[in-house]
Amino acid sequence: MLSEKERSKTYFIQTFGCQMNERDSETIAGMLEEEGYTPSEKREDADVVVINTCSVRENADNRFFGQLGVVKKIKEKNPDAIVAVCGCMMQQKRVTDRIHDKYNWVDIIFGTMNIDEFPKMLRERIAEGRQEFHVLDAREQIAEGLPAARRYSFKAFVNIMNGCNNFCTYCIVPYTRGREVSRSPENILSEVRNLAAAGVREITLLGQNVNSYGKAEHLEKDFCGLLYDIAEVDGIERIRFMTSHPKDMPERLIQAFRDCDKLCGHIHLPVQAGSDRILKKMNRHYTKEQYLGILERLREADPDIAVTTDIMVGFPGETEEDFLETLDLVQRARFDSAFTFLYSIREGTPAAKAPDQIPEEIKHDRFDRLVNALNTITAEKNAACVGRTERILIEGRSARGGEGTCTGRTESFKLVNFLCDESRAGQFADVKITEAGTFSLFGELV
Ligand code: SF4
Repeated sequence: MLSEKERSKTYFIQTFGCQMNERDSETIAGMLEEEGYTPSEKREDADVVVINTCSVRENADNRFFGQLGVVKKIKEKNPDAIVAVCGCMMQQKRVTDRIHDKYNWVDIIFGTMNIDEFPKMLRERIAEGRQEFHVLDAREQIAEGLPAARRYSFKAFVNIMNGCNNFCTYCIVPYTRGREVSRSPENILSEVRNLAAAGVREITLLGQNVNSYGKAEHLEKDFCGLLYDIAEVDGIERIRFMTSHPKDMPERLIQAFRDCDKLCGHIHLPVQAGSDRILKKMNRHYTKEQYLGILERLREADPDIAVTTDIMVGFPGETEEDFLETLDLVQRARFDSAFTFLYSIREGTPAAKAPDQIPEEIKHDRFDRLVNALNTITAEKNAACVGRTERILIEGRSARGGEGTCTGRTESFKLVNFLCDESRAGQFADVKITEAGTFSLFGELV
């Protein structure tokens, strides 16, 4: 039984990175709430501060250690506050070595594969007062049955697998999240049924490469089979997934965009580059024409499908001709939107050792040209939505709109702002699109 003092203890989680990390933070929050902690609005007031790190983005080290510097001040003011760090960066020895050397006031360090150990580590830290450090390099099964404090009551991320076997030469993920491990279809379906019973209407299935779901375990059910099973769950009205690797795009999955009513008409399909030579150096296992062929088949299956992507510029050895291939791909693919990145070195990856790194000014010049091309297409695609009526899942108050403005997403994942009572969050509504911006749409309830 917790004492009154323990009952009023609070936590604050700062999350960097992708949806996988966001989902992990929901689990960490759920475990803390089971331990009797409640969320704190402000980091400086919290009794437990967790930083869930990401090593994918540029300058990850600087940003993380910068944050640790800020958190140190909280710890100086309140020496009883407990600081826990976790996530992808903790899977890198050079990072944990640096924490041990220079930030030894950090209380708890755990990795991406042993999140379930956090409550035990926290209890031991409180009881014994010494630093708790445990990071696993590999794990054969994903821990099941963990609680989650989910951000939304009407939409949810469902993790179907962890890790990646692809070893793209620029990417640190296979080293930080380990090899692919899939959850069993039974466990996933049970989670989805529970979510549906709790009022969730939209789920997003998560994995680094969902298309290879179950392959490492030789499961009978592939990703497409799982998708159709989930579509049978009463109450779930929308299904999304991310991310898909273009090299593993089975025809049946393409046809699911035509045949599976609950599958939303949006796919995030990272292309990374348009030059076959660079794609090969990246170890991506497809060519520009193969990628464009997939888009063609997707658009045959669902003419309204929205396609988003990730594109990187300045990969080692990228010439102007290579970059022009990327611009050509962008013009032909006509993405609805794209995340764009400047290549930057990730220590421990093969590309980090490449001798032909691209000078920063060239990278930035290419980046600007790429973003201009993409934004023009996104604006055109958004303008084409004006006049349409879209079914929106209302998410709540819009951060950008004024008083009484809500936000929500179309099936194609486009963000729409419209006047609406906030209390309708979680409901579906028909919204007529009246105006288009580069990054969002505006509409009115019909
Ligand atoms: S598919 Fe490539 S880019 Fe994606 S997580 Fe795996 S290694 Fe990284």
